[in-house]
Amino acid sequence: MDLSFILNELGEERDLYYNAVAPPVLQTSNFAFHTVADLRKALANEYDANLYSRGNNPTVDMLRKKLAALDGAEDALVFGSGVASISIPIISLLNQGDHVVSVAKPYSWTVKLFETLLPRFGITTTFVDGTKIEHFEAALQSNTRLIYLESPNTMTYELQDLKAVADLARKNSIVTMIDNSYCSPLNQQPFLMGIDLVAQSATKFIGGHSDVVAGVVTGSRVMIKKIFDAEFLNLGGTISPMNAWLLIRGLRTIHLRLQRVCDSTRKIVDYLSTHPKIERVLFPFHPSFPQFELAKRQMKDAGGLFSIILKARSAAEIEKICHSLKHFLLAVSWGGHESLVFPAIAGMAVSDFDVDNPRHRLIRFYVGLEDPDYLIEDLKQALG
Ligand SMILES: *Cc1c(COP(=O)(O)O)cnc(C)c1O
Repeated sequence: MDLSFILNELGEERDLYYNAVAPPVLQTSNFAFHTVADLRKALANEYDANLYSRGNNPTVDMLRKKLAALDGAEDALVFGSGVASISIPIISLLNQGDHVVSVAKPYSWTVKLFETLLPRFGITTTFVDGTKIEHFEAALQSNTRLIYLESPNTMTYELQDLKAVADLARKNSIVTMIDNSYCSPLNQQPFLMGIDLVAQSATKFIGGHSDVVAGVVTGSRVMIKKIFDAEFLNLGGTISPMNAWLLIRGLRTIHLRLQRVCDSTRKIVDYLSTHPKIERVLFPFHPSFPQFELAKRQMKDAGGLFSIILKARSAAEIEKICHSLKHFLLAVSWGGHESLVFPAIAGMAVSDFDVDNPRHRLIRFYVGLEDPDYLIEDLKQALG
């Protein structure tokens, strides 16, 4: 399907709403029926009906069609946060006594799900270094039901070979799921590489304007319907029609925003990679990245997030650089129009800072839509 068709036409039924170009926000919780028979039919199969907006809503449905098509998948579910789009499908897939093999160091709340929440229900997880397929193979148990991936992650950008993991899982009848937030479907399509469920935080590149928290998971119709019929409706992590509408608006320009972000990131990473105050840059599309070849093979492009390891001797030195930046906001999250900076030391007590640990001297940047030269000038003055 053409990207232009997906972003501008797919799912839009303008003759149903006065041929308005922009779709309506169907801000309704509820839907009425003409006959008891119609209501009975909707109650019996809510997946195919507009019954109540915790399940389906036409504004959300338009967004689902576009997001599924972007991934090359059959259907999508949209959630009130990226975290819900990860935890609700995972809870749907697993039963008491099941085992998960997860890539090491996924998103922080995904770690908490595997380490704290799921063990309360008898589900265990083994974390593996995902840079080698043998590590996944070695961690499999007779009760392994899920292999969970995040490629690249959003701090240090380690990749997994998605086709190899998908093949291994298929051979062992294990479901695969990935957090694809870093790439978005424009830069990586894991479903087409054999991954079963593809989640992403729509707060990031889909929304793109730092004004919505949302998430999406895509997959086969059978798998998505199973999640919808039980855990999606039962745990209730739904999105509001207004926020779904904002995501549809975000999608209109996602290709332009991502192109700009990727071009600017390349330029800024090139500048920083030779800076005397920087030990190294971490960015999957930089030739110095250990998995550069794999990144080129399975991703179309990369951009937005990258990290640097500073040569700093103290936490104060790192803080000073962060405070000196005029055009990078000091904040978590990413994917919007505005550039951001996030130092690893923000996540630890200052007394724990270990200058010999490069991970402590890491600063993550997000490159937004500003002029890259404007951002480079700012980095230049802040690094000194
Ligand atoms: C932000 C993020 C999430 C969580 O998404 P929310 O929309 O904040 O709930 C999950 N994974 C990654 C990689 C993220 O960057």
